Amino acid sequence: MKLDDDLKLQILEKVGIYSQRFSIPEPVILLTTKEVLDAPREMTEGRRTSAYKYYGVSYLQHNLVFLNVRKIPDEKTLENTLVHELIHMRFPYLAHGKRFNKLVRQGLKGKTFSPYKKRSKIPSF
Ligand SMILES: [Zn+2]
Repeated sequence: MKLDDDLKLQILEKVGIYSQRFSIPEPVILLTTKEVLDAPREMTEGRRTSAYKYYGVSYLQHNLVFLNVRKIPDEKTLENTLVHELIHMRFPYLAHGKRFNKLVRQGLKGKTFSPYKKRSKIPSF
């Protein structure tokens, strides 16, 4: 898709909406491979080349999501990719698979998720 200011705004709006529904902090969104390459190296370490291959990449440690807008063919795929990456943010322990795909479908339909609580052996107060 052609990335213009309108589309940029639409994407950021959607990120805001879905982040709220998924109870996650709004990630920083990169929309071009150039932005990935311009990002601090430690943030995109090991994933810099994958940026070209995929529709989207999430960098969980840095709360950063790359959407390869120019490679994404249409609005539906864009929304799928966006929700896919945000589900990674909300369910960081979950690998791709049936359960993951189900959560993406639910997310696309407007489901809300309660905040992710890290399981820790150290009690937090
Ligand atoms: Zn994924």
